[in-house]
Amino acid sequence: MSVSFRDYYEILGVGRGATEKEIKTAYRKLARKWHPDLQTGKNKETAEEKIKQINEAYEVLSDKEKRSKYDRLGQNWRNGQDFRPPPDMEGFHFYTGAGDKAGASASGFSDFFETLFGGGAPFGRQARASRRTGPVRGQDIESELELALEEAYRGGEKSLKLTTREVCRECGGTGIENNTFCRRCGGTGDTTGARTLAVKIPPGVRDGSKIRLKGQGGEGIGGGAKGDLYLKLKLLPHPVYKVRGEDLETEVVLRPEQAVLGDQVSVPTLDGPVLMKVPPGTRAGKQLRLRGKGLPYQKGRGDEYVVIRIDIPEHLSAEEEKLYQELASLRKGV
Ligand SMILES: [Zn+2]
Repeated sequence: MSVSFRDYYEILGVGRGATEKEIKTAYRKLARKWHPDLQTGKNKETAEEKIKQINEAYEVLSDKEKRSKYDRLGQNWRNGQDFRPPPDMEGFHFYTGAGDKAGASASGFSDFFETLFGGGAPFGRQARASRRTGPVRGQDIESELELALEEAYRGGEKSLKLTTREVCRECGGTGIENNTFCRRCGGTGDTTGARTLAVKIPPGVRDGSKIRLKGQGGEGIGGGAKGDLYLKLKLLPHPVYKVRGEDLETEVVLRPEQAVLGDQVSVPTLDGPVLMKVPPGTRAGKQLRLRGKGLPYQKGRGDEYVVIRIDIPEHLSAEEEKLYQELASLRKGV
């Protein structure tokens, strides 16, 4: 069976690289121009046919998935050319039996459209899917999971609430039951649900790490396997640490005399506070390194850098002030 190829870009008068906005603008302009109510007599018929084509072109080019599928056919087809689906084109499923005996489909779209995307547009995506032969694997789903730094460091279990779309149990995804719209899903073919998942976080994950949960994605159709769920981890900003690759950075505030004379101070680490030696004469902005207190990575563990800040006491006792005065007069003599 062959159908006429439709050049949707030509129909909308846009280039193949047109942006979503350009496509929308072109569509609106043409839809206004060819509105059948604005035409009379023979023009009205032409306008009706035009509008159908314009709507169909827009249906495809305004939908990311459909557009990319359409684009994959390549650029060598011309409008009106005999189109035969290539038998084994990768990543494609062509719908055979497009266009019933009357030559028109329920969707009002062309046979070419039906061959590419299947029919049943009024009843939504699932209805089309159910026309396919054989099982179809469910979609992979991507989601984000926010983690505190400590959770990423130690790993553990985290519960995740997911909103899911599932094939309607009542109508099996067709949206139709007893020749009318399915009452359970309202004709959409799918229902929404909520699921809580316990996600195991391996220790040492990073911002942007992905965790794959096999079989937790979209439901398959016709006995097809479920898709997978990919969780992209997002590290929440931490009040104490900045993450720099496998290293951490934190700050510690010293009083002037601690910086001048040196001291031992308590510093937070992911393993709990440790005592850090501050050498005499430590200046503000200096970075002291705590080896192996950073995040784990393939070769071991990163370091923690402690940045020194010095704070000046706001209120001095009379004795402290006297001592500072003495210091000052000593300095004058140097
Ligand atoms: Zn239903």
